[in-house]
Amino acid sequence: MISKEKTLQAVETMFDMFPEAHGELVSNNAFEMLIAVILSAQATDVSVNKVTPALFAAYPTPEALSEAPMEGIIDKIKSIGLYRNKAKNIKACAGELLLRFDGQVPHSREDLVSLPGVGRKTANVVMGDAFGIPAIAVDTHVERVSKRLRICRLDANVVEVEQTLMKKIPESLWVKTHHSMIFFGRYHCTARSPKCDSCPLLAMCQEGKIRMKAKTSKS
Ligand code: SF4
Repeated sequence: MISKEKTLQAVETMFDMFPEAHGELVSNNAFEMLIAVILSAQATDVSVNKVTPALFAAYPTPEALSEAPMEGIIDKIKSIGLYRNKAKNIKACAGELLLRFDGQVPHSREDLVSLPGVGRKTANVVMGDAFGIPAIAVDTHVERVSKRLRICRLDANVVEVEQTLMKKIPESLWVKTHHSMIFFGRYHCTARSPKCDSCPLLAMCQEGKIRMKAKTSKS
């Protein structure tokens, strides 16, 4: 695994490459952010952003969403994957917010993961993006990039990836690292065709060196 210093150097390079990196889900408040993140599981942010304006216009508050008919919610979100389950979860989640949190989105990870449809990754995104609380949400891009660069072990699970990143990166940079690593994974170190030949991290990247060697021996 690469050192703390090298890890910091790698994420700072990502900051330079993607200074505009940010959460791409559109929301106007913590409630909308929470619902949008639940909807984004196994769906693209773009597809979620297409359905949320009509969903939030129809059901703008936890009260309205908890009382909404299932068919009404399904009708608004049916273009995204797993929509039936997600409709059930967001309605139940809105009900729990009312029942247990006075209609407010809780700030702690423990409370967030107690809500229907909310796992650790969703909780971390909400903490970071809605409340500015340091957290690193590990999605497919963060996991892939962390492993390719050997920031963490190749066999690490998502919680271990998160913990390793938290140990190696200063807390003040966690949210920025999360966004920059997602942009780096989405637009540069992509799953199928990472741009190793033009990558500023190639000199420190095991995976990149292996890929470049394989490419050279083929040509
Ligand atoms: Fe990703 Fe290749 Fe860069 Fe390594 S060298 S970080 S695999 S793009």
